[in-house]
Amino acid sequence: MAQANEIRSRTRLGSETENRAMNIGSTLQEITRALVGQVDKIRGSEYPIILGLVLLAVAAVFVPRPYEAAGEILAGNRPSAEVVLVEGDAEGPDGRDGDALTSISNSDKTFEQASSVASGDGGNASEMESSSSKAVLAEQVTPGSMEVDWISGSPDCAKSDEPAIQVHQYDPATYILRQSLCADFEAPFMYLLIGQTRAFLLDTGAVAAEDVAPVAATVMDLLAKEGQPRLPLTVAHSHGHFDHRRGDGQFLGLPDVVVVGNEPAEVQRFFGFDNWPEGVASFDLGGRILEILPIPGHHPAGIAVYDTLTGILLTGDNLLPGRIYVSDLDSFRASSQRLVEFIENRPVTYVLGGHLEMDNQGELYGPQSTYRPDQRDLQMTREHVLALDQALGDFGRYTFYSAQDAFALVNQGNILKGIGGMLALFVGALVLFGFRFIRGRRSRAVSTLT
Ligand SMILES: [Zn+2]
Ligand SMILES: [Zn+2]
Repeated sequence: MAQANEIRSRTRLGSETENRAMNIGSTLQEITRALVGQVDKIRGSEYPIILGLVLLAVAAVFVPRPYEAAGEILAGNRPSAEVVLVEGDAEGPDGRDGDALTSISNSDKTFEQASSVASGDGGNASEMESSSSKAVLAEQVTPGSMEVDWISGSPDCAKSDEPAIQVHQYDPATYILRQSLCADFEAPFMYLLIGQTRAFLLDTGAVAAEDVAPVAATVMDLLAKEGQPRLPLTVAHSHGHFDHRRGDGQFLGLPDVVVVGNEPAEVQRFFGFDNWPEGVASFDLGGRILEILPIPGHHPAGIAVYDTLTGILLTGDNLLPGRIYVSDLDSFRASSQRLVEFIENRPVTYVLGGHLEMDNQGELYGPQSTYRPDQRDLQMTREHVLALDQALGDFGRYTFYSAQDAFALVNQGNILKGIGGMLALFVGALVLFGFRFIRGRRSRAVSTLT
């Protein structure tokens, strides 16, 4: 009888293709019916799976903007993989970097040494301490200008006439460079600090091509002084993510330029850390000592750079007005605590990070936006260092996202785990229902035969 029906149906449709389509349609209908039927037959042991799916769906809806971070991670915009572009040279080609490394210390001894060479001119540092000793320290830093409107990209980059790199002179020996949003939406900041015998560049930006973003040429122009030889330059990185070191290649082969490697071991070797991430290293630019503090947690090779001359603290992607990605929570917390201890006895004029992703209303720009009107200030303060530490303390092990006034913490590890868990549950549910469907078909076939 079934065969007769099938022959009639073939004759009516008149084609094998239509017949196959009909079979698939009826199979889908059967699967749908089977799935609906399974809901009534859920066993006790299957409730956790169903509950997990429902909870994940609820979390996906109510956790604030997890998709932004997930999207960024999936798009690979903040790669955590480390690829070494440039081998660091602990000595430098001519050994001068070795000379610049003066000491490594856990105590304030280094700071005393540093502050003794920091030439103050009675500056009005913004972070005045209550005790008289701290007030003295604060007077030893020289403030500069943060009066600047950062380039904000364009809704149509093809028509944008913004510079590829904006240069802001903070003081005669300190420059803040911002890469154009149209060159790369990461638009990272780079910092050039010039001493009497050496210059130091932190980060080289998100663009490799010199014709798109001429970082090396810009820096060399800033270092050039008529009638004088250019100062040797050390290029280091706040951390090893690509958006802070793609410009490294532009510096390779330039005379008197040393590019520090990106691997934690290379950073440790170069600055002389023997108990990473503990300790503070000093790097002497000649009359200007930088203090280097390991701050892994966003990236294993993360460092903060404190300039004893200006009181500026450079924090890379560990603290910035925007999304702060936590890749290793324990490590990030420990780094944050070390940072709090570090600034306790040091004047801090400004805390400057690697990106600016927030507007004046405290709203984050879209993750890949190339147009960011009404940007808030880049500069943060020591209060933000404390706020970061507080937020990290409150940040649960299973939290995805925490919005604060001036930044947002994002646990990228948890987000990836969440996405992986949802995928695993989805696949698990499919297998479970598929298995039940096949078993149902078999039992129906057996009952037809008998
Ligand atoms: Zn980063
Ligand atoms: Zn970055």
